Amino acid sequence: MALNIPNTESKRIVVIGAGFAGLKFVRALRKSDYQLVLIDRNNFHQFQPLFYQVATAGLEPSAISFPLRKIFQQQSNLHIRLTEVLNVNVEEKLVHTALGDVTYDYLVIATGATTNFFGIKPIADAALPMKTVGEALRLRNTILKNYEAALTCDDPAEIETLLNIVIVGGGPTGVELAGALAEMRSYVLPKDYPELNFRQMKIYLVEASSSLLGSMSASSSRKATHFLKHLGVNILTGIQVTGFSNDQVHLHTGENLKAHTVIWAAGIKGDLPEGLPQEIKGRSNRLITDEYNKVKGSDSVYAIGDIAFVEQASIPNGHPQVAQVAIQQAANLAANFKRISNDQKMKPFKYFDKGSMATIGRNKAVVDLPFWSFQGFFAWLVWMFVHLMSIVGVKNRMLIFINWLWNYMTYDQSLRLIMKPGKGSA
Ligand SMILES: Cc1cc2nc3c(=O)[nH]c(=O)nc-3n(C[C@H](O)[C@H](O)[C@H](O)COP(=O)(O)OP(=O)(O)OC[C@H]3O[C@@H](n4cnc5c(N)ncnc54)[C@H](O)[C@@H]3O)c2cc1C
Repeated sequence: MALNIPNTESKRIVVIGAGFAGLKFVRALRKSDYQLVLIDRNNFHQFQPLFYQVATAGLEPSAISFPLRKIFQQQSNLHIRLTEVLNVNVEEKLVHTALGDVTYDYLVIATGATTNFFGIKPIADAALPMKTVGEALRLRNTILKNYEAALTCDDPAEIETLLNIVIVGGGPTGVELAGALAEMRSYVLPKDYPELNFRQMKIYLVEASSSLLGSMSASSSRKATHFLKHLGVNILTGIQVTGFSNDQVHLHTGENLKAHTVIWAAGIKGDLPEGLPQEIKGRSNRLITDEYNKVKGSDSVYAIGDIAFVEQASIPNGHPQVAQVAIQQAANLAANFKRISNDQKMKPFKYFDKGSMATIGRNKAVVDLPFWSFQGFFAWLVWMFVHLMSIVGVKNRMLIFINWLWNYMTYDQSLRLIMKPGKGSA
């Protein structure tokens, strides 16, 4: 098998990953002299910030996934290959994929991050992560299947376990999921399952540090906590999850939480192919780069987005692993590649922090701008506007807007399907 990339006079840049970083980088070089090869294990780009809405039946997966070939129909210097990168050989400038090998003049690694269970094996085996659209869909299926199972269960304790949900991780993902699930419990589930008593259902949000939304301002953290408490979410801060067995989540305090569904939103680590030397890997399996996103000790390998750890004394933990960093690094690196071909000096990457936000539910969000934090209804409108405008494609944008409008007016989400692969039964 071979990737069948034509040999040309142009310098070849192989890009691994079509996430926020890879997509922006390739787009920004559409009018360049480079030959671009974009490799991803999926034939679509995923909009991760809205995964939680897929998991809670608010949006269809197709509304937040965009086919790569459609996005790049007009880009003639690009070859897209749908395959898994298995190994990178930096000495021979060779990328080994499940479909064959490809050589490069330059390599851009934009493989993002994957779930980090911190070595807690029982959790890794049992908990549901949410790092791909497939995982978000699996979460939706699991939650709905549990309620179907509860209907035919005659053990009250088991029913409670099937209804309960434990979310581990009080960052934006955990907070947004907890809010959406609490609203489902209030408005949707009692109507769908009138035979079940949803007052029994408990939603726990467990966070190891002392507060929710630790990366945001103190006022946003406080307000998000207030909103979630108001929605009836049980918030446990300063608590570590240590294990899981017999439908019980074990806490470091010795207490246990009964739940069939455990959602893991507590950590990520770099998603790296094999073969890269150990000395270029930094904290959380990220690739150590200089301020130009050039990987340590290499002249031809670059890393951007979640996988990159830009080593600078002023940011000991690296840049935050968020979409804006990925997009801005990609834009800067693409501009630098244009400079390389014009024999100009490269410019270092400088992150412009536009702020951060999280939504907790209907009319409730928290927004931190560089010089202003605000919460509540206006923040919720800002959250919706920013997310809507970030969606690729006018059709998807409209679909999402109509869905949100419908959900808002009807207090309902209409996508509660349990999707099964093949013809199998439950
Ligand atoms: C649930 C959730 C919610 C989030 N919410 C927000 C938010 O509200 N705001 C925000 O700014 N950020 C948010 N983030 C973070 C944001 O999504 C990431 O920072 C961003 O996606 C990073 O972009 P990236 O291009 O580096 O990686 P990704 O977008 O993860 O893309 C990596 C790509 O590489 C591909 N890939 C990886 N390994 C291989 C391989 N070996 N072979 C082939 N292909 C490979 C993957 O398929 C993927 O397409 C959220 C993340 C999650 C999971």
